[in-house]
Amino acid sequence: MLDNQAVTGKNLSLAGKVAVVTGASRGIGRAIACAMAAEGAAVAINYNGSEARALEVKQEIEAAGGRAEVFQCNVSDFAVCENFIKEVLTVFGKIDILVNNAGITKDGLLMKMSEEDYDAVLNTNLKGTFNCIRFTARQMIRQKGGHIINMASVSGVLGNAGQANYAASKAGVIGLTKSAARELASRGITVNAIAPGFINTEMTAVLSDKVKEGAVSQIPMGTFGEPEDIAQAAVFLASDSARYITGQVLCVDGGMAM
Ligand code: NAP
Repeated sequence: MLDNQAVTGKNLSLAGKVAVVTGASRGIGRAIACAMAAEGAAVAINYNGSEARALEVKQEIEAAGGRAEVFQCNVSDFAVCENFIKEVLTVFGKIDILVNNAGITKDGLLMKMSEEDYDAVLNTNLKGTFNCIRFTARQMIRQKGGHIINMASVSGVLGNAGQANYAASKAGVIGLTKSAARELASRGITVNAIAPGFINTEMTAVLSDKVKEGAVSQIPMGTFGEPEDIAQAAVFLASDSARYITGQVLCVDGGMAM
């Protein structure tokens, strides 16, 4: 239950909290891990293949006076995820914030898309999000609270030609977010999604100039966003300032999906 006596105005501090950020070795996840550490959270940095880069994020956080540890886990694997969350609990003792950020694209036209490319994207983006919630929610229930933030996309809101697999996975993440929010609300756990538009990371660096120009023309603010734009939204949703917000999809997209 919410304690109305506790409403004291803006409070973005994450001091004393433990945050798990999947796919935090680069891009948006890295920015979220660093921003949450800057607000005082101890951070579990998850990666799949990029160990050296995950260690760089840990060093960056520690150099700024924060605490972080790295954890290898392919989030699409149910059993491996169970171990990952257990390892985090062994190291940190609790989980207050879970950010399901790990994601991939394998773009292509629907008529030519392979079964492997469809499955890989759904397994990482949607099943990976389910897996981490599945093994973290019980702990958050024990702790009588927590914040879960899932990375969706404007593609999941609007659909996108050439991204049937990706848009389906992200629309799925939105349905998963709302269902989990309804199941966990009475336990003091909020579950929200962020739907980024086009953000400057390695994921969008591979797009051709023509595709980038086409994308920019659909963004009212006329430019791609930066990973920090998403990180600040994630910090807010993980903070006490957002304690009465659940089941929402926050578009951080320069106005693209309005
Ligand atoms: P990115 O730069 O390509 O980074 C992807 C991250 O996900 C990496 O840390 C990667 O780890 C991790 N990852 C991939 N597969 C994984 C798996 N099976 N298990 C664990 N980790 C895995 O991507 P990004 O642009 O930062 O995107 C982050 C999230 O935002 C994704 O969910 C993406 O769909 C979403 N998003 C991005 C944009 C955009 O414009 N960039 C827009 C909308 C939504 P390794 O380095 O170890 O492989």
